[in-house]
Parts: sequence; structure tokens; C-alpha cells
Amino acid sequence: MKVLSTITEMQTEMIKHKASGKTIGFVPTMGFLHEGHLTLLKKARKENDIVVLSIFVNPLQFGPNEDFSTYPRDFDRDRKLAEKENADYLFYPSVEEMYPQKSSVTVTVHERTDVLCGKSRPGHFDGVATVLTKLFHIVMPTNAYFGKKDAQQVAVVEGLIKDFHFPIVLVPVDIVREEDGLAKSSRNINLLPAERVQAASLSRSLKLAQSAIEQGERNPLNISAMIKEMIENETDAAVDYIEIYSYPQLQPLEILKGTIIIAMAVKFTKVRLIDNVIMTID
Ligand code: AMP
Repeated sequence: MKVLSTITEMQTEMIKHKASGKTIGFVPTMGFLHEGHLTLLKKARKENDIVVLSIFVNPLQFGPNEDFSTYPRDFDRDRKLAEKENADYLFYPSVEEMYPQKSSVTVTVHERTDVLCGKSRPGHFDGVATVLTKLFHIVMPTNAYFGKKDAQQVAVVEGLIKDFHFPIVLVPVDIVREEDGLAKSSRNINLLPAERVQAASLSRSLKLAQSAIEQGERNPLNISAMIKEMIENETDAAVDYIEIYSYPQLQPLEILKGTIIIAMAVKFTKVRLIDNVIMTID
């Protein structure tokens, strides 16, 4: 596996592979790899000639009071894990490499950002779309792998690829969970021990909601109330949002029908966690 940290080296290698007709699978991450990331890597490995993993904690997508400085990082461990998964390239640029001067052009996301994390993290998806535009030009992937844990991100990136005519196929990958149901996340390490136990309530409440829907509940307000009650009873976390929309359009619903997303964000002492379920109702 080659570890590259400059854009020029990366582009030179990718142009060479493209010219020889190789497919390139790309897994963009912020590092501190876990089983979720590795599942994306494994899928990319199966489906492409060349696999590229990027690790870049992108300052542009963090708000002023968010966890950019405390975001967990462990490059040596990540490098070993990527090597074990047979990645061909690990792209690991510095902030200065990616943003050498104040940007004269950035990307603004206009749709699907007035809800969920877009609403509670203003500017977050502009930062995501801007860095992905750069990374797509650097890596030139055939297929790009994204986790459904960040379901709004998947919807936003679909829009980015379509609107900017990137010749890239977005491959969404199911959420990978711990044994107790907690969605794997680099941020879980910042949960206090008692909070780690409580955090299983997020997925439990989504399961409860899902079975209520399966038993015929169609009112989104009743579903969000049910989730809120469970989170408030079982955890010390503050609910940031519990929202239900059509997916991937992210439009509000009066009655649950078609493909929907039930998504939540909750704040523990040092960490904000998200989770969701996407389901289709006849
Ligand atoms: P991150 O490093 O958190 O930016 O995540 C990089 C990629 O891994 C994103 O596409 C995430 O959606 C995906 N990812 C993170 N956690 C999980 C998980 N538990 N299951 C599946 N994909 C995940």
C-alpha cells in the first residue's frame, strides 16, 4: 500500500491507472477506522481494480463549537488496518495541502440542508460537498463508497455527483453496529462509560419505532414522541432532533408512506451521536 500525502503524487498515480482502464474504488473517511469503515473498504476491494482510502479530518465541515480538535486520530493504527484490508493507496493530506490558501470558490448545498444535521450544523454540508469535490478531482474514482449511517450525506452527495456531472457511481453501504445495536462511530470513544451503556437506546428506540410502524402506526408525530420518550427515560443525553422524512427527498410527511427515514441526533457530555433507519411502507 502506498501512503501519499500530496495532491500531485495522487493525481499522477490515478491518471496512470485510468489510462490503463483500471476501475478505482474510493472510500473517503476522517480516520480512526472501525468496522464500519472496513466494511466500505472490503466492498470497494471486491468491486474495483484499485482501492483508495482517504483520511482527512476536514476543518471546513466542523462548526466553531464542534469537535474538530478533539476528533479522535490514530494514523499508525489506521495505516495498519488499511493495509490489512489490501487498500492500494492511503491518501493522507495535511490541512495546508488541501487548503493552501483562502478558497476563492467553495460549494454550497441548496437542497435537503434545512433539516436534520443540515439544520443543526449550519455550513456542515457545504464543507462536505467542497472537500468531496476536491477529493473527487484528486482520486478520480469510478465508484465511491458512503455509509448510510450518514444518510443525509448520501442524499447530498447524490445531488453533488448529479449536478456537477462527476462520472462516479455512489455506492451506499448499510450501517454497521456494535453487538448492543449502537452504530459504530469514531466518536463513540468519547462517550463516558455510563453513556456508552445508555447509547444503545438510540438503536433500541429506532427498532421500537420500526415495529410500531410494522404494526400499523402511520402518524409520524406518534413515532417521534415514542422515540423521544425512550431516549429521555433511558439516557442523560439531550435530544438534538428526532425527525421523519421521505427518503431520499427529505420532505416532511403527514402520513407515513413510501420510503422514509427516521433519524435522530442526541448530545452526550462530549459527543453528539446520530443514527437512523430507512424503511419502505406500502
Ligand atoms: P467518517 O470517517 O465518520 O467521515 O466516515 C467515513 C465513511 O464511513 C462515511 O461514508 C460514513 O457514513 C461511513 N461510516 C461511518 N460509520 C459507519 C457505520 N457504522 N456503518 C457504515 N458506514 C459507516
